[in-house]
Parts: sequence; structure tokens; C-alpha cells
Amino acid sequence: MSYPQLSLYIDGEFIHGGGRKGQDILNPATEQVVGKLPHATREDLDRALTAAARAFESWKKSSPLERSKVLRRAGELMRERAGEIGRGITLDQGKPLAESTGEVLSCGEHAEWHAEECRRIYGRVIPARNPAVRQTVLREPVGVVAAFSPWNFPFSQAVRKVSAAIGAGCSVILKGPEDAPSAVVALAQIFHDAGLPKGVLNIVWGVPSEVSELLLGSPIVRKITFTGSTAVGKMLAAKAASQMKRCTMELGGHAPVIVCDDADVDQAVKSLVAFKFRNAGQVCISPTRFYVQEGIYDRFVAGFVAKTGALKVGDGLAEGTQMGPLAQKRRVAAVAGFVDDARERGASVLLGGAPVPGLGHFFAPTVIADLPETSRLLNEEPFGPVAGLVRFKTVDEVLARANSLPYGLASYVYTQSNRNAHLFSTGLAAGMVSINHLGLALAETPFGGINDSGMGSEGGVETFDGYLNTKFVTQFN
Ligand code: NAD
Repeated sequence: MSYPQLSLYIDGEFIHGGGRKGQDILNPATEQVVGKLPHATREDLDRALTAAARAFESWKKSSPLERSKVLRRAGELMRERAGEIGRGITLDQGKPLAESTGEVLSCGEHAEWHAEECRRIYGRVIPARNPAVRQTVLREPVGVVAAFSPWNFPFSQAVRKVSAAIGAGCSVILKGPEDAPSAVVALAQIFHDAGLPKGVLNIVWGVPSEVSELLLGSPIVRKITFTGSTAVGKMLAAKAASQMKRCTMELGGHAPVIVCDDADVDQAVKSLVAFKFRNAGQVCISPTRFYVQEGIYDRFVAGFVAKTGALKVGDGLAEGTQMGPLAQKRRVAAVAGFVDDARERGASVLLGGAPVPGLGHFFAPTVIADLPETSRLLNEEPFGPVAGLVRFKTVDEVLARANSLPYGLASYVYTQSNRNAHLFSTGLAAGMVSINHLGLALAETPFGGINDSGMGSEGGVETFDGYLNTKFVTQFN
């Protein structure tokens, strides 16, 4: 089974092992070693910093048209290479091949969107009080960016960060996910082939805490962007704050789904089952707390369990697989902990509830009903193939329950009533609300959370905001 050769990418050069320390890469479906990832040495990281600082000085002066051309070409290459990159993702991350390939194809759109929008990073002219004065506002790239992308969407999360940084005129040092690195190495090759000047993008690997410590400690880095857990995000944001570095944080979520009595129940069940178990539930916007109104509760639960029970679980490379393994062994234990806690508190495990015996990090798609409000599953992000279902009586009551956690990323509502739709769209404390469908994470729409789910948006016209400084210039003639 061919798996791509892994490397660092520093100052336009791909660096393979060369005696460096590193780690084995496992296929989570078979637990077999598929590759070896070299870790950056201290010298490699210093070189990446120097290269990024040097490249920034010229890239910040590049024309928007030039940046746009590189991003557009990168988008074309993503589409052309989607098959091979997708295969690599399935081998090191585990998701079904159709999902992996779909992830890469959707990134073609993200690169294209950034190619289009970077030509529209405008300043403005502010009419002055004195006719002899000219007042302008300029938007300038923040500088060298340290980016940290996660393993659940190894390609798309890296693409969003890198495209925004490059489009804004910044240079980047990206530490990708060591658990699922092949897509990020492929991304470096794409930008290399698309003609990005050397040093504008650098890829490093290592022990996450050591790499982030060094990069955040450097005065060269002016901004950090991180996608991952809330706990790590808070720690990195605190370090960044102590040096006044800019931050974009895409952190954990615990998305409520509110299904009202007046919803189209069949449509809700159909779309929610597919969405819940996508990427084995390892998605920050995965629906996790299902609040179902009492009038349709039994019908919803029966339909949800039947559809979930029909999901085909297996190796992501096998034909027809709808859900693959969890990305790492530690996730199996973490998900089991949520189920055990629910059982101990008297909830009903209606389906699944245990790891799948045999090789691979598989956990059965799990549905748990009648959860007490204190259960871990209703309070902490499960990040796995577990759906917790609870009933509610009134919309006001469920709004308060949905808003009761510190998270605020995605939320979902199913209702045919405009009154309810308005109540939830204005009342839910979340960065994103999707009503009667699952319409998040498109290139042209902003993606981001509030409160413990982070700060800043990726995608949409907001995508460059975190990568630009505002400069005011006033001139008296
Ligand atoms: P974790 O908290 O150990 O790591 C989360 C991510 O942060 C990983 O990509 C890891 O490489 C990185 N990381 C960890 N310590 C770091 C440091 N000091 N500096 C820089 N990066 C660091 O958890 P995990 O077991 O890898 O993942 C499970 C949890 O992570 C889940 O519960 C979920 O909340 C969260 N997660 C969220 C997303 C997301 O899309 N928001 C993605 C992946 C993981």
C-alpha cells in the first residue's frame, strides 16, 4: 500500500529524515505503520523563522494579482491531486475515501475564494475636516504567522489558514498534525509547484508543545492561528497575549440540535444521522446534544436509531464504508469514558456503546437517550461517534439549556415555524446557526465560534481580518 514520503518543508526545500528524530505514522484502521515523519530540530525551526522573516519582506510587497494567481493555481492542483491526497488522508487519519477526497476537492474552492477575495482587500478614504488634509486607511499584512492545524480535517484546516495568510501578504510557518501528516506535505508540494516564492510557506513537525513554545517565543512571529481543543487554545492564546501577538482560535464545540414538534422529522433524521457520524463524529461542528420536543421524541428516536444502525463501519479504503475508525487509540478510550459515565447515571444506551473488537481504532456508532443533565456527554465535547438524545417541553426552556455551556460554535434547529426560527437564530449563543439544513463551512461563509469556542472567522469576506493590521495615514498638503 503506497503512502507518500513525509518531509519538512523549509525555505522552499523538502527535507526528508536525514538522521532527525521522528515518529511512526499508523493507519488507524489496521494499526500498521505506513510511514515515518521527521521532526524538526532546533536549527530547522530557527531556519524556518529566518526564512519566513526574509520572505515576508518581499511577499508583503507582492501585488494582490500575483498572490491571487498563486492561490488560483494551488486550487487547480488541489482538484487535480484530490484522489492521491485523499488516499493519504484515509491511510493516516482513517475517514472513508469519499470523505477524504471530498475534503480535498472542497479545498479547491477555498483556495479559489481566497484568490478572488485577496484582490479586494481595500482601504478607504475618510473625508477630512480640513480640505488640505487627506486621510486614508490602509490594511497591511501582520507579518510572520505561526499556524497550528489539527488532525480531524488535515487538509482543509491547513488550507484555510495558509490561504488566508498568503492572500493577505503574510508568510507562514505551519505545524501540521503529526498524527495525520500526509495531506500537509502534499499541500507544501502544491504551493511549491504553484510558484509560491521560497520561505513564504514553511512546514514543520515535532512535539507540539516544544514547537509552539519556540515559535510563540520568537519576536519574529506576529500572529498565531490554531484549530484544536479549547484547553490548548487557551494556553496558546495566553502565551500570545503576553507578547501581544494577534490570535485566531477555532476551538472545540458542543453543538446543540433542537428538533421541534413542528419539524419535518424524516428529513431531520436523514440529514442528522449522516452529519453526526461523518468523520466518526470527530468534527468541531458535529451535532452532539440532541434536544427533541416531546411530541415527536419517540418517532425521532426510533428513526435515528434505525438509520444509525444501518451505517457500514469499516476500513475507509473499503468500498461502501460510511464510517471509519477513530483517528487515534486515545480517542477510543476517551469516547468509551463518555458512554460509561452515561450508563452509570442511568441513561439508556440504545445502540452501540463499545469499541468494535479486533484490530483498528473502531468505536460503534452510539445512540444514548434519556441523559441526565449532569452527564458528561451533555457537558463536555465528545468528539466521537456518540449522539446524546434528550427531550424538551417548551422552546424557551430548550433555548436556556442549549445556551448553558461555555462553548459557542455551531448550533442546529429543525422547525417549520418562522417564530421559532427567529427565536433561535437571535437567541442561540453561537458563532453559527443552521436552520432546517446543515449549511456550514462553505468557502464564502464565515466559520468561527464565540466564548470557549474561540475568536475570529475563517472563510467569508472576514477571512483576512485576522491577518491584517489597520494603518491610518493623514497628510497635510
Ligand atoms: P489535544 O488537546 O492533545 O490536542 C488538540 C490539538 O492541539 C492537536 O492537533 C495537537 O497536536 C495540538 N496541540 C496539543 N498541544 C499543543 C501545544 N502545546 N502547542 C500546539 N499545539 C498543540 O487533544 P487530541 O487528543 O489531539 O484531540 C482531542 C480533542 O481535541 C478533542 O476533544 C477536540 O476537542 C479537540 N480537537 C478539536 C478540533 C477542532 O476542529 N476544533 C480538531 C482536533 C481536535
